[in-house]
Amino acid sequence: MPTPLEALHETFGFSQFRGRQQDVIDRVMAGCNTLAVMPTGAGKSLTYQIPALCREGTGLVISPLIALMHDQVRSAEAAGIRAAALTSADDNRFETMDRLRAGQLDLLYVAPERVSTEGFRRLIDQTPLALIAIDEAHCVSEWGHDFRPDYRLLRGLLEERPEVPRLALTATADHHTREDILAQLGIEPDGLILAGFDRENLRYGITTRDGVAKQLMALLDDNPGSGIVYAPTRDATEKLAAQLGAGGRPTRAYHAGLDPQIRAANQRAFVASEDMVMVATVAFGMGIDKPDVRFVAHAGLPKSIEAYYQETGRAGRDGEPAVTQLFWGADDFARARRRIETDVEEGRRPGERQRLNAMAMLVEAPGCRRAILLRHFGETPPPACGNCDNCLNPPTGIDGTVVAQKLLSA
Ligand code: ADP
Ligand code: MG
Repeated sequence: MPTPLEALHETFGFSQFRGRQQDVIDRVMAGCNTLAVMPTGAGKSLTYQIPALCREGTGLVISPLIALMHDQVRSAEAAGIRAAALTSADDNRFETMDRLRAGQLDLLYVAPERVSTEGFRRLIDQTPLALIAIDEAHCVSEWGHDFRPDYRLLRGLLEERPEVPRLALTATADHHTREDILAQLGIEPDGLILAGFDRENLRYGITTRDGVAKQLMALLDDNPGSGIVYAPTRDATEKLAAQLGAGGRPTRAYHAGLDPQIRAANQRAFVASEDMVMVATVAFGMGIDKPDVRFVAHAGLPKSIEAYYQETGRAGRDGEPAVTQLFWGADDFARARRRIETDVEEGRRPGERQRLNAMAMLVEAPGCRRAILLRHFGETPPPACGNCDNCLNPPTGIDGTVVAQKLLSA
């Protein structure tokens, strides 16, 4: 069996581990349980794929979406890993089971609901397992933003196989969610590894809204490359797109209410362009790989720090400097509070309230924005980043907060 470094070089063709991949892999190799919290694109898959190749037995991977599983199987196979998925959508189930029993699979992907079935448990009972990886592990927590009851069913398997190292993986987990994942999956608190959230090339800016179309025009003037403007509603995207487009910059709108063909054409035009502005709802961005987005602006408050991080994170994927700017108003908070109290199911309200409060702390902070973001994701940041509005232009005013300044100037 190869060592992790050999597998990295020979199977994946990468020269070195990134971020804390090696720390995670070392723990799994040593048989320890781990929760790895790392942002999207950090390379979480490698942290279970490599131990699956380097330890005795098959790596079992729990993954919530069948479509994702098939992508993962395809890319693992392309690297020469013996991988398969066991889902109701696969008509080669019997072949997969035979390969598993014969020890011919490095990786087996399954959905959480299948794990709890008697048939699967009987099958897996006889199988040596290299590890149990639980991808998108925030789904196990009601505190998280995407709770899936099926994830609770994993506990039976984990209890039956205490000797198999567990590796839970997620990109989005605030403090509460992390604690909950550790408890739910029986991972010791010292098994938490989180890192890699800093996006050094992004400049963070946050100000109050004051004629947002004019504010956005000024932002566009300073930033000639392509950019995304997130607007809170479908109507707002179309209105803002018209206003910004009137200035001569190529501008399109994107929201779920548009005709699918128009939507797809707008997205293609944006991806191909070097100076287009896409005014969109948050429906835009997932799965779009455009490395040279030079700015991301928010015309209204994102619903959580996780959402803000993810949406701003679409800027500057090429590593070149990029700008993010959030415009917010007190009415955003009033509206969000009303929504929580009226539209959100009671059990989920505490989590939503906390997410909103975290946003309030971020937008009103007089200190380094990046420090707040990184602390939110559990990292220990330096006190000042030198690349956010508050570091570059420390706020003046009696206690420094934007709200206080606004009150004083009113
Ligand atoms: P995540 O699940 O954390 O979002 P992925 O596992 O999908 O991320 O990996 C994102 C990309 O990074 C993939 O294209 C992967 O091949 C690449 N990658 C992962 N680890 C490394 C590494 N050590 N060196 C170079 N590229 C890597
Ligand atoms: Mg992943």
